[in-house]
Amino acid sequence: MAMRMSSLFLRTLREDPADAELPGHRLLVRAGYVRRAAPGIYTWLPLGLKVLRRVEAIVREEMDAIGAQELTFPALLPREPYEATGRWTEYGDNIFRLQDRKKSDYLLGPTHEEMFTLAVKDMYSSYKDLPLSIYQIQNKYRDEARPRAGLLRGREFIMKDSYSFDVSDEGLQASYDAHREAYVRIFDRLGFEYVIVAAMSGAMGGSASEEFLAVSAIGEDTFVRNDAGTYAANVEAVVVPQAAPVDASGVPAAHVEDTPDTPTIETLVASLNANHARSDGREWTAADTLKNVLVVLVHPDGTREPLAIGVPGDREVDAKRLEAQVSPAEVEAFEAKDFAANPSLAKGYIGPGVLGETRESKIRYLLDPSIAEGSAWVTGADEEGKHVLDLVHGRDFAADGTIQAAEVREGDPSPDGNGVLHTARGIEMGHIFQLGRKFAEALDLKVLDENGKLVTVTMGSYGVGVSRAVAAIAEGNLDEVGLCWPRNVAPADVHVVATGKNRERDGSVFDKADELTAAFEAAGLEVIYDDREKVSPGVKFKDSELIGIPTIVVVGKSLENGVVEIKDRRSGERREVAVDVAVDEVLAEVRQGRGAKA
Ligand code: ATP
Ligand code: MG
Repeated sequence: MAMRMSSLFLRTLREDPADAELPGHRLLVRAGYVRRAAPGIYTWLPLGLKVLRRVEAIVREEMDAIGAQELTFPALLPREPYEATGRWTEYGDNIFRLQDRKKSDYLLGPTHEEMFTLAVKDMYSSYKDLPLSIYQIQNKYRDEARPRAGLLRGREFIMKDSYSFDVSDEGLQASYDAHREAYVRIFDRLGFEYVIVAAMSGAMGGSASEEFLAVSAIGEDTFVRNDAGTYAANVEAVVVPQAAPVDASGVPAAHVEDTPDTPTIETLVASLNANHARSDGREWTAADTLKNVLVVLVHPDGTREPLAIGVPGDREVDAKRLEAQVSPAEVEAFEAKDFAANPSLAKGYIGPGVLGETRESKIRYLLDPSIAEGSAWVTGADEEGKHVLDLVHGRDFAADGTIQAAEVREGDPSPDGNGVLHTARGIEMGHIFQLGRKFAEALDLKVLDENGKLVTVTMGSYGVGVSRAVAAIAEGNLDEVGLCWPRNVAPADVHVVATGKNRERDGSVFDKADELTAAFEAAGLEVIYDDREKVSPGVKFKDSELIGIPTIVVVGKSLENGVVEIKDRRSGERREVAVDVAVDEVLAEVRQGRGAKA
């Protein structure tokens, strides 16, 4: 049935909603696709639901095509399985927890590894039952700290999550590869410009892990890639190689110098250049200094652990890289009270002299891997107003280990040795990874192998952000006046506008528009039909542009000459065609557009 604007449950808004940050989100609200129910929680109105269902259908078709079977778990889950895997605690504030009338604990599922694992354990016991891939498309709940940008980061959102179960590592690899190919097809069909990048597997452990990022300036993720196309990674997952040792035999013994009022790298470099000329004649730069950054890790059980990170002074510690490294612990600032509790630290002049588990502060000290053994540094001398020069790593100081937490910058060498890195931003649309045996071990999922021996099953976990995809498509397909949906996900194929004021006066226009609408439908197209009376043509045109159906057919005055206007929403191109060929013309456009990238 055509969606008739005279009765469609829709009110378009002329004004931007106050609480929407991003252009696509503003348009989704203004054009009547979604409405906010609470922060990060959205109602899908009829038009929005159409788009959502079309995205779901593409995901479903491609999952079914690799033999995955659909099922659905409850969103309201008992605590026990999440307790068994440690995630009840690890998730911290990020899960919604609740109690029933008997005071038993429940949660709203943030992701369902536990439930899938237990279901397979319940029903299967032999290697003959495997491999198996099962999936659901379902609401997930996460109490996100920063629900922003509407559907892109909801607190209730829709995810397709699938899980594979295999006996052998080769089996897992095959299941992973099948999912990867399905994802390529999904994101091609959704019309995204995307990159597949190496990812962190985070709190879930596991090994191989890749993300599908939609390339977008508004993305929250930063990724890097080289020109040759041999390396692409989320910055969180970049592994900077350990710098090769350098010869320190010519470096004089370390010496402490007075550097009054130099608590920052900038003031330090200026003071060095003014008072401590280098023997090689060049200027000091921030890159010659070793900056020691202090943070506090808050572990899931609430314990607070200070951590010191040594990075070259021209680089910052990247909060996201650090968080990814220490997850599930969270990172907090090292505050005045922490300095008070650690009197060996001279704020602004902290150095490796006191840092380290075996030294005075007892604070764990980790170095950026770019800091080569044998390299000489200027760094804090652990005394107000003093720095130490020619301090050589490996000769004069040591750390407890290394950490991948320094920022990765445009132009840095590619970790695979092939050229340099370029940075860009993206939206994480999908994530695939090899979980391995962690969940199966925690929940005791074992099957009998060919020899009658019990073996632990190995798993893969694969997610697609379905509601996020709707939002990301909107953000990437819009102009000043409205949305421009790609054919594959548009809520309708064609938007018919009857420009008459009322049926009494403009009967022929409405009759012809009725007829065309029926003919489009008979040809298998989905139609939005603006059959409203007493609404001006200007308002109808504006609404059609705001809603963003790819093809708009205007039935109006020129009907007297036997023609209607066909307008391409994206290009703005208009052409007049004879009424009797309108259906064929639109059908041809739809056929051509479907399957093609936007
Ligand atoms: P992010 O890093 O963006 O928080 P994540 O790594 O926590 O995402 P996964 O656990 O890998 O997400 O979930 C699988 C997919 O679900 C993600 O790739 C993303 O597309 C989607 N997703 C995750 N969190 C949200 C959210 N809050 N709102 C909408 N979609 C989400
Ligand atoms: Mg992820």
